[in-house]
Amino acid sequence: MTPAQLIRDDIRALQAYHVPDASGYIKLDAMENPYRWPEHLVGEWQHGLAELALNLYPDASGKMVTDALYQHAKVPTDAAIMLGNGSDELIQLIIQAVAKPDACIMAPEPSFVMYQMIATFNQVGFVGTPLNDDFSLNLAATLEAIEATQPAAIFLAYPNNPTGNQFSTADIEAIIQAADGLVIIDEAYYAFASDSYLPRVLQHPNLLVMRTLSKVGLAGIRLGFLVGDTAWIHELDKLRLPYNINVMTQYTAQFALQHIAVLESQAEQLKIARGMLLDELTNTPHCTAYPSDANFILFATQHPSLTTRDVHEQLKERQILIKCLDGSHPALNNMLRVTVGTPEQNQQFIDALRAILQ
Ligand SMILES: *Cc1c(COP(=O)(O)O)cnc(C)c1O
Repeated sequence: MTPAQLIRDDIRALQAYHVPDASGYIKLDAMENPYRWPEHLVGEWQHGLAELALNLYPDASGKMVTDALYQHAKVPTDAAIMLGNGSDELIQLIIQAVAKPDACIMAPEPSFVMYQMIATFNQVGFVGTPLNDDFSLNLAATLEAIEATQPAAIFLAYPNNPTGNQFSTADIEAIIQAADGLVIIDEAYYAFASDSYLPRVLQHPNLLVMRTLSKVGLAGIRLGFLVGDTAWIHELDKLRLPYNINVMTQYTAQFALQHIAVLESQAEQLKIARGMLLDELTNTPHCTAYPSDANFILFATQHPSLTTRDVHEQLKERQILIKCLDGSHPALNNMLRVTVGTPEQNQQFIDALRAILQ
């Protein structure tokens, strides 16, 4: 049989998630933390790395990591934790678990694209709800959609990607109250935000909070975690493949969590840089930038002779890689997203952008 005969039509119709080759570029497209660890930490980490038993399977429960999360990441002690190979894997497990024939997944649009992609992979319906012009939740439309479609799970990225804002807690509370299914608050950007649902995750029976170490400085190790009532985590955990968190990730994550203050102070530096970058963008001709609670900034370009895609291409020619969102959603026409880098990287980006947009 050929792929055309064997593979599901909806999968053959998909475009694979595109990750551009970034070698040689100033990489400001993927919300990575630009800072590495101080040298003494690297030395200490390497020491433990040499001791790892790579010939053995990892601890299937990831106990070293979950203990460190309770101890150092403010996870409430009476909540349960499930570890994922990145939070992408956790999104996949949640959607698989609720994938009954008539189930649907809901999330605002625009938001993190994986919610919809993974729903599609699992042949689960997806309902996107609109945002207002200021990127706040359109509460009336969302409540109406909840009533009409009874989603099995609602994903709310808090702060939202790619818009960068935190939704209002009053709106989120109203959604949690209206929803019969799960509400998952995705706090990928918690380190750069001013609020978190993690301490209050057990206050609502259908609430789960998801985090990842990716954006705070460990994108390379792939570790996400999901927190909530034991009864939910117990069911979801049945779908997790054994040993999904490898030996090196478990070791590195627990080591990093013991030194979480280092990552958090890097996040503080990035928040200061974010403020400066927002000012610079605001003062760049033909640019409109939006405030952000995350480690990236969404901005639009309106140039008399250059399209936003031209600007994106010309930045690339100058070895600067950011994300072009134009065309991905009507609310994102003429929009680009830049990750906050080091002050030097941000300056190089601004200099290049101004040279292009003059
Ligand atoms: C980046 C991102 C993720 C994915 O995180 P990983 O742990 O690297 O898989 C999840 N949610 C949002 C909103 C993100 O922006």
